[in-house]
Amino acid sequence: MKIVIQNVFMVLFFATYNYLCLAKDSITIGALFDEEDSQMEMPLRSLVYTKNLVDQKLFYKINMQTLLKTDSYSCSKIVCNISQTDSGIAAIFGPQSEGASSIIQSLCSNFEIPHIQTNWKAKNSPKSETALNFFPEADLYAMGLAEIVKSLQWDSFIVIYETEEGLSRLQEVLKLQDYLKGSKFKITLKKMGLGPDYRPLFKEIQDSSAFRMILDCHVDKILDVLKQAKEIGMLELFHNFFLTSLDAHTLDYSTLDTNANITSIRLFDLNNVEFKRAVRNWELSQYHLGNRIKIDPQEIRTETVLMHDAVLLFLDTLNTLQLTQTIETTPISCDSTEKWSGGFAISNFMKIKQPTMTLSGPLKFDDFGRRTDFRIHCVEVLVNKTIATWTPSARLNMSKSAEEDAQTIIENLQKTTVIVASRLGKPYLNERKRSYEGEILTGNARYEGYAMDLINGIAEILNFTYEFKVVKDYGKPDPITGKWNGLVRELIDRKAHLAICDLTITHQRREVVDFSMPFMTLGIGILHKKPDAKEVNMFAFLDPFSLPVWFYTATLYLIVSLLLFFVSRMTPGDWESPHPCDQNPEELENIWDFKNSCWLTMGSIMTQGCDILPKGISSRMSVSMWWFFSLIMTSSYTANLAAFLTMQKMEPAIDGAEALSKQNKIKYGTVEGGSTQAFFRDSNYSTYQRMWLSMSTTKPSVFENNNDEGVDRVISTRKGLYAFLMESSQIEYFVQTKCELKSVGNWLDSKGYGIAMPMNSPYRGEINKAVLKMSEDGKLIDLKTKWWKTKREEPSCDDSGGGEDDSSKLALANVGGVFLVLGLGISFASILSIIEFLWNVRCISIEEHMTYSDALKMELKFVCNVWITKKRTRPETSDDGSTKEDSKSILQNGVTLVNENNKNGSNENIDDKE
Ligand code: GLU
Repeated sequence: MKIVIQNVFMVLFFATYNYLCLAKDSITIGALFDEEDSQMEMPLRSLVYTKNLVDQKLFYKINMQTLLKTDSYSCSKIVCNISQTDSGIAAIFGPQSEGASSIIQSLCSNFEIPHIQTNWKAKNSPKSETALNFFPEADLYAMGLAEIVKSLQWDSFIVIYETEEGLSRLQEVLKLQDYLKGSKFKITLKKMGLGPDYRPLFKEIQDSSAFRMILDCHVDKILDVLKQAKEIGMLELFHNFFLTSLDAHTLDYSTLDTNANITSIRLFDLNNVEFKRAVRNWELSQYHLGNRIKIDPQEIRTETVLMHDAVLLFLDTLNTLQLTQTIETTPISCDSTEKWSGGFAISNFMKIKQPTMTLSGPLKFDDFGRRTDFRIHCVEVLVNKTIATWTPSARLNMSKSAEEDAQTIIENLQKTTVIVASRLGKPYLNERKRSYEGEILTGNARYEGYAMDLINGIAEILNFTYEFKVVKDYGKPDPITGKWNGLVRELIDRKAHLAICDLTITHQRREVVDFSMPFMTLGIGILHKKPDAKEVNMFAFLDPFSLPVWFYTATLYLIVSLLLFFVSRMTPGDWESPHPCDQNPEELENIWDFKNSCWLTMGSIMTQGCDILPKGISSRMSVSMWWFFSLIMTSSYTANLAAFLTMQKMEPAIDGAEALSKQNKIKYGTVEGGSTQAFFRDSNYSTYQRMWLSMSTTKPSVFENNNDEGVDRVISTRKGLYAFLMESSQIEYFVQTKCELKSVGNWLDSKGYGIAMPMNSPYRGEINKAVLKMSEDGKLIDLKTKWWKTKREEPSCDDSGGGEDDSSKLALANVGGVFLVLGLGISFASILSIIEFLWNVRCISIEEHMTYSDALKMELKFVCNVWITKKRTRPETSDDGSTKEDSKSILQNGVTLVNENNKNGSNENIDDKE
């Protein structure tokens, strides 16, 4: 029932509608489309339909035709047909193709029929006064494109184009090369080829390390091209595509599943309310025309929107004109020279009329109907966000705030598994030990270290996931090809998003990759071995004099002693009375036997003096010369000894780079391919140049593959004959546990480690903020303490007592030789005293007719009785004539003397004598 009533109403409605229409003047609009295109028809039908409902005087009809693009004859035939049918036509809309459009433009120009276009026209295409093109004027459009590309701040990019026509649209973009001459700005052109396989093209682009591309191709090809780019790995987080197609928004990019930065342009705003309302109206009119369709605003092409604006302006113009004049069309034959009188008025009025509303932004025309005002929207395709707009009058207007930018970057990072390239090397990244036998470690769990913790901290702040990728080298350019290797190569090829390890920020690397702010500061230092403990010389007291000096001194000692002996025998001054009180002695005696001469010279050279001294002039002369010699020798010895003993405690010959450079006994080297090697190679400072010359010419090579090997070489090279130039943070790490090592001198430079990333990475700012936050929160210091101290398995040098000893004191080893000489001397003297003692006992036993054991017993008893300080010259005899064994010993010399006295009948003992 309801449907019946609805249909009755419809019939009534159309009846009324037809009646009213028939009462009006009818105007025919010609519409030419390249192909059956329901989308471009929609605004035309919709606006005409609505207009017919409300217009009191005019009734609009549409004469719609489809053209074969390439056939110019059929184009002109169709125009002739429609212009002479019925009452003629008031305007022709379309077509889209440049060739057909030009033919129709010239026909319309002849007939003075307004020709309304919506397609791009080359700068020098024929002009017509009756033509109006709603597509922006070629020069201005090219300029707008160039400014938008410039606003992206790309320093180098590749333009991939499909047709020459497309390239001419990009003429101003190509001119940016001249504009930024002198900088590293570089534009490369690549033609797409026939396809359908574009992978070789992208492979070639990938090999050239380019990652920014302008893609100018037909909208239908975009998705296919991007898919192939993705297969080659050219649609990653840091790849940038700028799509010049104005219909790029109609595609579904979700199928690409990419985080690449894809930007495109539009001439209208998809989110505009008027646009949405217009789309609803199109839907409605389609419904009235019997087509129940749902239109997705996202699918609306630019030409459809331009058609809407064109039809709207045309209807408005006619509406205004009919207030003052009657608008009547007349059929025109192509064979005649007739023109339509009203055509000029319409096209001219359209050029100056202010449109009531447009979907494609500001609208203005020049005298030849070329659109001189419009708005280009630059849109981030994946998030459908306008980031900038450009108009010929107001120029560029950036509409995206820094916060929005940052947010988008973070979101993109979060959608990606960030590839972190690193290099194995303690304590930055190390393979983790299994916690139990058979444990299988996979992914990031395989590694641990400072770099891992650092990226973990950053990932926590920015909330992204990451995966470690281990690479062998740090990164240096090949001297011939200039091609980088190692971590830097990974970043240039965009195979990794970040590179974290002990990677130094250098000027050369900075030209090809970006760095975050430094997370650690350091400088080049020298790692060397502490002097060998075994090298300490216990006979160091001999060092002040060379062997010949010792030899000559000893020889001289003997000669002088002998000389003194003879000189004193010759000089009368040394022959004295045996008894000082006897002024006229029978005999004179000389105390300077060889023994006393030796004793005097020994006492002098030992600076101890002697209790007897010569009295003769020549002997005194000899002795004073010996004293002079002794004075100089002992003073020199004392001074030299002090210096020698101190020197042993002092640092070895090298105390810095300067000292290293001036000697060639100790070899020195660096890590191969690292920034330290590059520092010496590229330095202009003479000392470092000298060092580089020495390092680069030394055979076998002084360069090591990594720091561990360098450290091992320093330890294993005997006598500290190898030093390793290494970064201070690393030195600090190794000297903590390898107590035989030490750092020598000051830093040679000052630099930092940074997180590297591909050039112009969008996330650089966010990584910087995260590093800064970790630094401010003290987390970087904590990490350093953790990996430099807490997590060390080997005992630290401070704990194990292997640290520096008290260097101001002489160790026993330094003076051990002196102790040894003393010990040996005393031992020899003791043995000598025992021999003397035993010999004395033997003499006593013979002289006193005692058994040897009795004499020994008696003498031992006497020696042990330390309170007795006087000694008898012979044993005390008892009354029966036997020897009394008392505690007094007998002096052997005295015995001889006593015996002789006994022979003379005087039996006095020493005590009695006294
Ligand atoms: N950190 C250095 C670099 O990034 C490597 C080690 C060195 O050269 O001492 O190249």
